[in-house]
Amino acid sequence: MNSPPVSARIFRAIDVIRKKRDGVELSRDEIESLVNGYTRDDIPDYQVSAWLMAVVLRGMTRAETAVLTDAMLRSGEVLDLSSLRAKKVDKHSTGGVGDKTSLVLAPLAAAAGIAVPMISGRGLGHTGGTLDKLEAIPGFNVNLSVAEFRRVLETCGCAMIGQTAEIAPADRKLYALRDVTGTVESPYLICASIMSKKLAEGIDALVLDVKTGSGAFMKSEKDAAFLAELMVETGERMGKRVVALITDMDQPLGNMIGNTLEVVEVVELLRGEGPEDLRQLCIELAGWMLHLGGVSDTVAEGKKQSEKLIASGEAFNKFRQMVELQGGDPRTIDDPQKLPHAQSTMPISSPRDGYLVSLQCEQIGTACVILGGGRERKEDSVDPTVGIVLHKKVGDAVSTGEPLATIHYNAEARADRARQLLEDSYQIADSRAQEERPLIHRVIGKPGDKN
Ligand code: URA
Repeated sequence: MNSPPVSARIFRAIDVIRKKRDGVELSRDEIESLVNGYTRDDIPDYQVSAWLMAVVLRGMTRAETAVLTDAMLRSGEVLDLSSLRAKKVDKHSTGGVGDKTSLVLAPLAAAAGIAVPMISGRGLGHTGGTLDKLEAIPGFNVNLSVAEFRRVLETCGCAMIGQTAEIAPADRKLYALRDVTGTVESPYLICASIMSKKLAEGIDALVLDVKTGSGAFMKSEKDAAFLAELMVETGERMGKRVVALITDMDQPLGNMIGNTLEVVEVVELLRGEGPEDLRQLCIELAGWMLHLGGVSDTVAEGKKQSEKLIASGEAFNKFRQMVELQGGDPRTIDDPQKLPHAQSTMPISSPRDGYLVSLQCEQIGTACVILGGGRERKEDSVDPTVGIVLHKKVGDAVSTGEPLATIHYNAEARADRARQLLEDSYQIADSRAQEERPLIHRVIGKPGDKN
């Protein structure tokens, strides 16, 4: 009997799945065939889901991770932005609850003279996504062609889109599948997903915000540091300046969770208001972006400059300009009350006097998904108006009956499920927690700055 042609053996998805399931290292050909086959729609979701789960459980070697990142990067176009005179710098987070920093940072860095060609993702698991937040602005188009993306970037210095059929198409498909198959929590898959998108942008430098804590995919600081090192190493190998900040996600960032609500908080922040933790993190990340982009000699100077750009209204004006250029209604940015809001609200009250000592952050993110703010199946659309407003954060004193949070909802049954999750996520004690968690835990891969 004739043996099958070599390509038939190499390209059988089931063999690649079984090999990974059994903990055997995959070859470049095997990984490339899986990524390319899935991108071309030749391999179905169910086989790739099985492979992703095998990766979550078995892990990947450094060599496999590099090949996966490379295959995903080369699944589409790599932008050549060398005609832009400004340095190209981006920022990406590994995913959190209430993390709306990208919407602040792209216009803020652009206002400082940096070009920010940002390719982002949608909500992933219990975390929110930049694209879903942007789409809460009526008319905002995150699906620009490469030519339109370039035009917006050249006109205002920043542009924000999703993975497309042209740029990072493999991540576009894998990301949506991982969201609903419990296959997000792998440092190797997160590294390949983030770095393939970011390396496709044609950037000079990248600031990574790697989250740790109960609302992060990497719960422990050790796991977050491992992921940070993996990504910094990947970026440096491709000749980019990369720094990773390990930051706290043990409670939501800011006070608002949910797409429309988060846009409201972004506008507040860009107007010089907004919650202190969100402001502090945005300024820190912006400081690094400005420094890596050569606009400031040190991170400290970059932070000062960023504060000034917010105080002067220049960062807000940049945001407004980008919204308008991408088809969004700028009147909703001038007056966020004009954004569509949920029909009903429901308070969550404190059951006792005391101090808030912890918040189960992943549960709060899941509550928002249950309200309709995220997806449970790939086909689901999100309801931008739903979400949660926190009135108390860790360390605050609370008294019996005082509102801890408000749920914004459109469906009673969903609100009831979200309420139960939220009530269970608060831990109240007689005294404050002994130790306060820092917002910035540490910096990895500092490229030549003493802060
Ligand atoms: N952000 C991404 O782009 N991908 C991930 O896998 C996680 C966070």
